[in-house]
Amino acid sequence: MEGGADWIHLDVMDGQFVPPITFGADLAASVVKIGSVPVEAHLMTETPDRHFDAFVSAGCRRIIFHAEATAHAHRLCQNLRERGVEAGVAVNPGTPIDVLQSLGGVLDFALVMTVNPGWGGQALIRSCIDKVRTLRAEFPDLAIQCDGGVDPNSIKELWDAGCTHFVAGSYLVRETSIEEGIRRLKEACA
Ligand code: ZN
Repeated sequence: MEGGADWIHLDVMDGQFVPPITFGADLAASVVKIGSVPVEAHLMTETPDRHFDAFVSAGCRRIIFHAEATAHAHRLCQNLRERGVEAGVAVNPGTPIDVLQSLGGVLDFALVMTVNPGWGGQALIRSCIDKVRTLRAEFPDLAIQCDGGVDPNSIKELWDAGCTHFVAGSYLVRETSIEEGIRRLKEACA
């Protein structure tokens, strides 16, 4: 946060939707408590709606669940909006974006996974850039986030394709300082 992040993005993994297990809503609440910027939860979990209440109570301002984890993405988006938080839906690299195209009207935020979810430090999958371009053409005002493989080299191409929000993890840890890393990412889009 001191390094200039606009949001904190929490990758919640349940050991089912993806093999690793990270953390849950208690940690989210702790981050919100010390935080000076808004916090969003990216739920890489089965049965995502089972956890909505916990993450809303924790103070997350945006909740992103996976289209692959539910047959009821439209209803879950409505659910989140009724709870007063932004509704985000994520798609894996192997999932067509049709599912997002059918959510116009209830969707605040689209997350296009640019690596397969579960582990940090992976290289960006280039076919995902085309998905961003297609989504942008159809929804001129939609907030589109890319998650995975974001660094100063890849961010410009994602930005040009229409991505507006970027998750950076491994790159910032590798940089000499997080502040310097965030500055380089923002400069690359300027
Ligand atoms: Zn994420």
